[in-house]
Amino acid sequence: MNTTPHRGRVAVIGGGPAGMATALSVHQAGHDVVLFERYPRARAAGNILNLWPAPIKALTLLGVDTEDLGAPCHTTFRNARGRVRVDVKLPENVIREYRGGFIGLLRPELYERLLNALPPETLQVNHTVERVEQDREGARLHLSDGRIHECDVVVGADGIDSLVRRTLWGDSPKREHHLHIFGGFTFDDTFAARRGESVISHSSTTQGAWTAIRNKGRDGFQWWVLTAHYADEEFTEDLHTAASELARGFADPLPRMIAATDPANVQRWQLRDRKPLKQWSKGRATLVGDAAHPTSPYAAYGAGMATEDGYFLGRRLAGVDLRDYAEVRRALDEFETPRKPHTARQSQQAYILGQLFHRAPAPLRPVRDMVFDHTPLLQKVVGDSSPAQIVKQLDEIDRAEGRFSIATRNHSG
Ligand SMILES: Cc1cc2nc3c(=O)[nH]c(=O)nc-3n(C[C@H](O)[C@H](O)[C@H](O)COP(=O)(O)OP(=O)(O)OC[C@H]3O[C@@H](n4cnc5c(N)ncnc54)[C@H](O)[C@@H]3O)c2cc1C
Repeated sequence: MNTTPHRGRVAVIGGGPAGMATALSVHQAGHDVVLFERYPRARAAGNILNLWPAPIKALTLLGVDTEDLGAPCHTTFRNARGRVRVDVKLPENVIREYRGGFIGLLRPELYERLLNALPPETLQVNHTVERVEQDREGARLHLSDGRIHECDVVVGADGIDSLVRRTLWGDSPKREHHLHIFGGFTFDDTFAARRGESVISHSSTTQGAWTAIRNKGRDGFQWWVLTAHYADEEFTEDLHTAASELARGFADPLPRMIAATDPANVQRWQLRDRKPLKQWSKGRATLVGDAAHPTSPYAAYGAGMATEDGYFLGRRLAGVDLRDYAEVRRALDEFETPRKPHTARQSQQAYILGQLFHRAPAPLRPVRDMVFDHTPLLQKVVGDSSPAQIVKQLDEIDRAEGRFSIATRNHSG
């Protein structure tokens, strides 16, 4: 599809979900796009993943094959004994369309499908971008092999330690959450009766969660356990044993699921983020995904928001003459304005919930848990408002598609 009067040149840095979604959307907008990744391939850092319907919708519109991608689940939050605290309710029409709310998959399959959708030659691996400079006329990327790549717009999709973010806005400290998470998956058939479910439980100190997954046509389950841990504390335990210990006392089937998991399929991460930026774009450069709003896994939405960012950015660049500085500025500002409150809210909420559930002082925990067990507070905060945010994103995507088809129609023919 060549829809713009002047094909602009866009360079995207980082081959994660944000970068790949951006490249797809920018390509659909009719611009030339190059995606630089420092590693030999766009590799999935991690195993477990859930996506909400809004990123699935964006992926589908970007031409990614989402047929049979993941297992749609209905989610409840519970206490460790299994008492339901929250029912995450998406509207019936959304559940019908996406067969459920929270879609469980393994990360490598998402990457594979994104890669399959990318036009040939778009992804340039083994290319670390070492420096970015720009002026009103254009931007230049200095690559590790000494080459200089010239473009009209630069997109930093380079994750939590983003070079582009640092170049535009200076350094900002990483926020340690003092939490760590263990995640794993199993295809053991024993749990088949729980397909379609996602259960997120909390004891007074630990989160123990599991969701159904579907990976390359195979049904299974992923799980995670999360608790307080200082990043600088030594950690030498065997991950599988440590996860089993943390899940002890949680309602069935979590402990059995962990026991059924091959220890080779267990990973561990320390949780950290950075505080949201007031502005993402400067001059001819902008940020997407974790580069713009690093988000703790507590949200289970960082990759989802990264995908949405890429989708919306490309849509907004349709019909824009990227040589024209004023037009670029307007487009980048209009891209980030609605994205900032949504993403900041999600990443801040993830941080606060993590602290509330796992770092509350011991004397306060029984009171907190009584409130969560016996009042609708948690239902309001995560059960009602999170689905409302997802529905809002679905509506935003519909509006963006409307504008996109007008922009592309005006510039074709
Ligand atoms: C345990 C865990 C569970 C999670 N669960 C979920 C979940 O269920 N749902 C969800 O939506 N999200 C989840 N997330 C969050 C999600 O993984 C991230 O938010 C997401 O990966 C961010 O995508 P991104 O493309 O912005 O950045 P990244 O995935 O970090 O990709 C950045 C890319 O940029 C490349 N790069 C960096 N610097 C350069 C450079 N100078 N030159 C070239 N390339 C460069 C990197 O190599 C990398 O490939 C989870 C995270 C963790 C750790």
